Amino acid sequence: MKLSIVIPVFNEAESLDELHAQIAQVVSEHSLDCEIIFVDDGSKDKSWKVIRQLAKADSSVRGLRFRRNFGKAAGLTAGIRAARGELILMMDADLQDDPAEIPKFIEKLGEGFDVVNGWKLRRLDPWHKVYPSLVFNWLVARMTGLELHDHNCGLKLFKAEVGREIRLYGELHRFIPVLANARGFRVTELAVNHRARQHGESKYGYRRFMRGFLDLFTVTFLIGYGQRPQHMLGAAGLVSFGMGVIGSAYLALTWFLMHVIPLFKPTPIGGRPLLAYSIALMLLGAQAISLGLLAELIVYYTSRESDTFSVTDEVGKPEQIV
Ligand code: UDP
Ligand code: MG
Repeated sequence: MKLSIVIPVFNEAESLDELHAQIAQVVSEHSLDCEIIFVDDGSKDKSWKVIRQLAKADSSVRGLRFRRNFGKAAGLTAGIRAARGELILMMDADLQDDPAEIPKFIEKLGEGFDVVNGWKLRRLDPWHKVYPSLVFNWLVARMTGLELHDHNCGLKLFKAEVGREIRLYGELHRFIPVLANARGFRVTELAVNHRARQHGESKYGYRRFMRGFLDLFTVTFLIGYGQRPQHMLGAAGLVSFGMGVIGSAYLALTWFLMHVIPLFKPTPIGGRPLLAYSIALMLLGAQAISLGLLAELIVYYTSRESDTFSVTDEVGKPEQIV
């Protein structure tokens, strides 16, 4: 089976020659049928020059160059689209991922999986990346139900159809296993050797954590309610509206009883805090429901049919299958 290795590159010129040499060694040792696709994500250094030289010297190397920096997810999307292999392996360009692991990934996939996610068992990154990452992985597991140790690992192997079916944008590359799992693909993980960064610097600062958590909400919403947003917004809206109605009904009832039973002195509703709460809840509820309707309109008119299902096998003549 042909393997496409997709490598997003952003200012990694010093690493590329060595990375290519290491991959070439593994490829020849295991006689893999393989292409290497470097996606230069608008590098400002000599990365593109190095990629061109590599492509000249090695016919299995291909390169794509973005006009400007579009982010890792965009780089991966372009690389996956260009890939011609049945298997796609993605890895970082900074030499932190070890190409010697590639054959183990292929073997693991052969056990009947669609996605094999790397797991940096002994991680060689600064502490301010390692510890927040533990919390992040724990949260992702709780919120999405997919228990992996290292969702953000740069080294992943998956079947080409996984790459075709899931859509990456923004920084959603961290959620490839989650998105694949949500579509029914079988996901597993494999402990890998991790290396410290030798050249250049990390492209992600402290901002990644807040963005990562925000993206986690997006992804949880997308996989749970992406095709039926009103079920979430509408439910929240109904609960809120209902509570508002109960509050105002209670106020109306007590007001009515005060006027009927002469024991109580009637007090005006206008001064009761519950009135403000009830009105706020009803307004909020109505807004959530109408937002849900708008979201449904967007899904109805813009979602691709293929987003609503994922076919794993087919039998019979093509014309018999609707
Ligand atoms: N990368 C990219 N575009 C970006 C940022 C990063 O293509 O805008 C690439 C980068 O060149 C590297 C990989 O994504 O190959 C992972 O980046 P980095 O090593 O900085 O992340 P870390 O290992 O610190 O998580
Ligand atoms: Mg790195």
